[in-house]
Amino acid sequence: MKKVLQDLNFEELSALVAAAGEKPFRAKQLFEGLMQGKRLGEIPVSAALRKRLSEEYEEEPVRILETFVSADGTKKFLFLLADGNIVEGVFMQYSYGNTQCVSTQVGCRMGCKFCASTLGGRVRDLTAGEILGQILAVNRAEGGTLKERKVTNIVLMGSGEPFDNYDNVIKFLRLVTAEGGIRISARNISLSTCGLVPEMRRFALENIPLNLTVSLHATTDEERRRTMPIAKKYRISEILDACAFYFEKTGRRYIFEYSLIEGENADEAHALALAELLKGRPCHVNLIRLNEVKERDLKGTSEKSAYRFLGILEKHGISATLRRSMGSDIGGACGQLRAKFLRS
Ligand code: SAH
Repeated sequence: MKKVLQDLNFEELSALVAAAGEKPFRAKQLFEGLMQGKRLGEIPVSAALRKRLSEEYEEEPVRILETFVSADGTKKFLFLLADGNIVEGVFMQYSYGNTQCVSTQVGCRMGCKFCASTLGGRVRDLTAGEILGQILAVNRAEGGTLKERKVTNIVLMGSGEPFDNYDNVIKFLRLVTAEGGIRISARNISLSTCGLVPEMRRFALENIPLNLTVSLHATTDEERRRTMPIAKKYRISEILDACAFYFEKTGRRYIFEYSLIEGENADEAHALALAELLKGRPCHVNLIRLNEVKERDLKGTSEKSAYRFLGILEKHGISATLRRSMGSDIGGACGQLRAKFLRS
């Protein structure tokens, strides 16, 4: 596989341009062109440099293969990587801006019982430039530029466990927030993890003040182990300690994802247990009714019980919201679209 030019930061590109005997302004041109989502052939560099780069680097490491548009305006993209692998992403339009959900791995090895991304296991990690490439491709396709961005917010909630691909994800975060690039502020980025405790602690020291989100989905270790194999490795108490450490280091409150699964974690007793667990912590809870995955036999709760669950949390002073499920008519849940594509 050829290398990915979008993996390189400005300093690394500058070194490459200098080594090719080109003037320094070429590096700026190249960086800006790449960050606009352009292919090498569309960027004004000298013929010699273009030839040299195209021999070693992918012309278009992330290409939009298909776009699905939902009735609510949500768009789902299938991205084709240079080696033929496919990942997916969702683009959601809100009044405050547009959020792009990106994948960090092809597949996933965490094995959560409700998630479609994990069905075929982990195929490979994405490079930093491949994660960034999803954002650059969508920003361009939506008519955005570096000044007038169409992608203003990012969630790392597509396929993959971001902290299972730690170094590439950190490099991506530094690239996407960098001067001269698309410059999406860390405050507008959410990273979701199933709770890899050592990486959560390490991340607290990276000085990237984003919205740390943890997939909890249960209130006891025993229950959590039923749907999330990672719970055999790390206890909820260790996760809460790591969250507290994150808050201590960054001053940022943290978020818990809690997908409501009928007969599993969605009763009143669970709501009370969750309120008890999180009482007094600087956190927020995002509830979502499980999106049913064809290959799994777990069911989402009714809207009514989801609101009842939310009411109980609020009554006990826990900050919480019930997320609307967007784009469910086009395969909104994680990995559903890729799974469908691979089946067909
Ligand atoms: N690996 C990371 C990020 C990817 S999943 C993580 O585990 O957090 C993003 C979120 O979607 C997680 O909270 C995950 O548990 C949730 N999710 C996965 N499949 C789902 C489904 N079918 N319905 C609702 N939420 C789901």
